[in-house]
Amino acid sequence: MSKCPQCTKEISPMTEVCPVCKCNLKEYYSKKLEEIEWNLDLKRLYEEVIPPTEPHKEIPDLTKAILGVLVVFVLYIFINGFVTYGSINDTLLYAQKFIYAFGVGVLALLFSLRSNSTKYDEELLEYEMYQKRPEDYKIMKALEAYKLEQKYTTPTVQCPYCKSTNVVKITSAGRIVSVATIGLASGNMGKQWHCRDCKSNF
Ligand SMILES: [Zn+2]
Ligand SMILES: [Zn+2]
Repeated sequence: MSKCPQCTKEISPMTEVCPVCKCNLKEYYSKKLEEIEWNLDLKRLYEEVIPPTEPHKEIPDLTKAILGVLVVFVLYIFINGFVTYGSINDTLLYAQKFIYAFGVGVLALLFSLRSNSTKYDEELLEYEMYQKRPEDYKIMKALEAYKLEQKYTTPTVQCPYCKSTNVVKITSAGRIVSVATIGLASGNMGKQWHCRDCKSNF
């Protein structure tokens, strides 16, 4: 699933208008494409987006392991439970063990199949989105990667004047825009950060 960029509710990547906040995703993506043109970091990530391959439903390794254990256990029960000419109580004990193991096995199996099919469904949705709207898919993936990159590479920076942490990085590409939008004079060209609170650059 993908998230609506405006209200962050989970929506299908196929949707063109968010059913929750009515945000027009088509307009949103075209605006973001303009941003990609001047944001060099975003542009690099956009160009690095790998097209998704068609997902395949496969038996997860966990399921294979559980099936293996079950087969061994069933064999053990059949050989021991029926070859041993013990009392009826012994056979009942084996039957009990078998039911417990089988129950646990089935639960694990269901859980594993469920998580595997959720992953498959998500991959299929993304694949279908790429088939229909490859451009939007690339923008979406680039934005996701950009957000992650910003989260892990941007340290918490404090404004030296008002001590606010509400600061934004002035990227080299963003500088061109910055001159008009945040009043970056030529004397400030070496400054890397802009404080959104006191509007100073440092
Ligand atoms: Zn929305
Ligand atoms: Zn400040």
